[in-house]
Amino acid sequence: GLRKQEVKVLVVGLNNSGKTTVLNHFKSEDDKSTEIVPTVGFNIEKFKNQNVGFTALDMSGQGRYRDLWEFYYKDCQGIIFVVDSSDRLRLAVVRHELDLLLQHPDVSSRALPILFLANKMDQRDALSSVKIASGLGLDRILDKPWHICASNAITGEGLEEGVTWFTQQVR
Ligand code: GDP
Repeated sequence: GLRKQEVKVLVVGLNNSGKTTVLNHFKSEDDKSTEIVPTVGFNIEKFKNQNVGFTALDMSGQGRYRDLWEFYYKDCQGIIFVVDSSDRLRLAVVRHELDLLLQHPDVSSRALPILFLANKMDQRDALSSVKIASGLGLDRILDKPWHICASNAITGEGLEEGVTWFTQQVR
């Protein structure tokens, strides 16, 4: 019979931004109990929940593995970009990684929806999602649907809003 095609979502961000914590919200109970074995060389996490496949990539400090993980750009229908809004020191690094992502041929040529999560909104020194958006220069993204929301990946606050937007885009 006809099967719904799998939707592939790529979750990216620097280390410690909260990707793993965000992913836990998208996992089924069975998945949550399974141990994650990190791939040697670069951090990548994969799992599937119903017809959505998630792949998470750590963008930080892994220059020599970049070619390996860029492979996943071509293969996804949407991107979730997780930012630690309390990590002011690395916001410029995040912006640089976003630039590289947007310039990549497998991304620049497609109207891929991007959901930005201004995560760790609960931290006292967290920047607002408006400040994160301007710090990353999101208004320059004119050829892709994008959305930003503040989130707390530990409690799940803000994730539902983001996911609702995202699902509408990806379908
Ligand atoms: P990853 O390296 O991007 O996968 O980040 P993790 O999901 O491992 O999170 C890094 C650390 O930040 C962990 O100690 C998490 O518990 C914590 N963390 C993740 N999301 C939040 C959040 O929204 N608020 C706070 N206060 N801590 C968070």
